[in-house]
Amino acid sequence: MTAIGFIGLGNMGGPMARNLLKAGHALKAFDLSAAALDAAVQAGATKASGLADAVADAEIVVTMLPAGPHVRQAYLGEGGILGAARKGALLIDCSTIDVGTAREVSAAAETAGFAMVDAPVSGGVGGAEAATLTMMVGGTEAAFARARPVLEAMGRTVVHCGGPGNGQAAKICNNMLLGISMIGTCEAFALAEKLGLDHQKLFDVASKSSGQCWSVTTYCPVPGPVPTSPANRDYQAGFTADMMVKDLRLAQDAAQKSGAATPLGAAAQALYSLYTGSGHGAADFSGIIRMLRGES
Ligand code: NAD
Repeated sequence: MTAIGFIGLGNMGGPMARNLLKAGHALKAFDLSAAALDAAVQAGATKASGLADAVADAEIVVTMLPAGPHVRQAYLGEGGILGAARKGALLIDCSTIDVGTAREVSAAAETAGFAMVDAPVSGGVGGAEAATLTMMVGGTEAAFARARPVLEAMGRTVVHCGGPGNGQAAKICNNMLLGISMIGTCEAFALAEKLGLDHQKLFDVASKSSGQCWSVTTYCPVPGPVPTSPANRDYQAGFTADMMVKDLRLAQDAAQKSGAATPLGAAAQALYSLYTGSGHGAADFSGIIRMLRGES
């Protein structure tokens, strides 16, 4: 049993915290939302009065916060984790944030006497609930070895991607690829409709030939071929278009700073921004097929 301080008990952090409790760890939890904190306490966590209280006695701290500024504030801000946690504690940030902030916070943690990994996740709320997340980890070998057992209680696939920030790098590269491949898949199905080609027939071909990708085989953006995909429930998310825009922005920001050419990533960001800007940010990202068809 490990004493864990858990900060950020939202859609993802809530079920991840529950899985740590199920694995037998002792959790002291904190969230700005009283409802989220109460749900964690009902599941067996101890209620912390604030961020500092949550981490003061923890051997391991896990954060699952919305974005980079929240992570920076939680770790580096006044009364933040680096000032309040026990020296030698292992810090695990599972939030999806920009690579630069991840590396800056990790360096500050090391200077203050902590080991830290960035460990963003893929797999959505369903994966968080079922403890089947893919976890992409950046940090030293030693920090990764310490983090691994805790990460394995929340995820099924845990990959050490290299030094600090490399977990975030893997996450945004993967999600940029997903954003692009989903638009390509939507365009192919929308073209098939114009040509009088049945959705199922295109699926039968593309899922077994060179057009094959996750957006076709697991998350098909039209109803029918993959009964579990959001297309079968009116594009109820799943993974929201807002989240996709957030990750594509992070990818474009990283591409600009590093000098990488990502023209399709830029186009995907522009298209998803148009989709969310027309009031569909809470819909599943695969719902962009409606915009590509010209539906209102
Ligand atoms: P969420 O908004 O549901 O949860 C975030 C929680 O953090 C909220 O409950 C909020 O009250 C809390 N919070 C914010 N600032 C805080 C602070 N200073 N102290 C304590 N609590 C604070 O978001 P989510 O969907 O759980 O996503 C969390 C992270 O996971 C994001 O970075 C997101 O990009 C990433 N992610 C989400 C999904 C998904 O499908 N939802 C999938 C993969 C990755």
